[in-house]
Amino acid sequence: MIIGEQKPIQEIISSLGDREGIRILVVGCDSCMTVSLAGGKEEVRDLVHDLSAHSRREKLGWSIKGLTLKRQCEKKFTKEIAADVRNSDAVVSLGCGVGAQSMSETFPERRIIPGINTSNMGAPEKKGVFKEKCMGCGKCTIDTTAGICTLARCAKGLQNGPCGGSVNGKCELYPETDCAWYQVYTILEGRGELPEIPEPVPPKDWSRSHSGGVRTVKSKE
Ligand code: SF4
Ligand code: SF4
Repeated sequence: MIIGEQKPIQEIISSLGDREGIRILVVGCDSCMTVSLAGGKEEVRDLVHDLSAHSRREKLGWSIKGLTLKRQCEKKFTKEIAADVRNSDAVVSLGCGVGAQSMSETFPERRIIPGINTSNMGAPEKKGVFKEKCMGCGKCTIDTTAGICTLARCAKGLQNGPCGGSVNGKCELYPETDCAWYQVYTILEGRGELPEIPEPVPPKDWSRSHSGGVRTVKSKE
């Protein structure tokens, strides 16, 4: 899933400006941003509440509506709220960067204000804590590293073994984070598959990553 976090309310307010009497639409997403606890129904409700409180305090007379879409990244869902967007003066997206762009492309006449800072592709570790797991390199090779992505999960992105700084299984740079290579070692040891002398991993082919340019993926018909 895509991980993101809500921008500080002051940043969203600053993007909205101090125009009086405007109609604001806050649009969340029922998919990744709900699991991220950043842009689901509850966060939309809270943001509507906080913006309303700001409007009352500053006597701005804003009217604010909130809703969520099944997946903000798909235009077949963004199109469903065309009437709501038409009846608004400003739209705040609580979708990820892809969702916010899908809104911008569906409604080019509206300025879409991003309310989320999109971070990475990851997974929830426990409630409210999300760890990066994949950086979308375009050529997955985790079968060679015990199912652990050392590009995304090693702080130095090392591909040919640990840096040697790990302490008690934790990363030397981020002591609260597990050392990815310690995890690789532990898993291979548990499987009885530790090589005596590991084969060197050849240089990564980055042409399929973002370094190779904007990517388009075509799924099979
Ligand atoms: S090797 Fe590439 S595709 Fe596979 S998990 Fe890591 S970054 Fe993602
Ligand atoms: S301690 Fe482990 S995770 Fe941290 S940089 Fe070194 S090899 Fe990578």
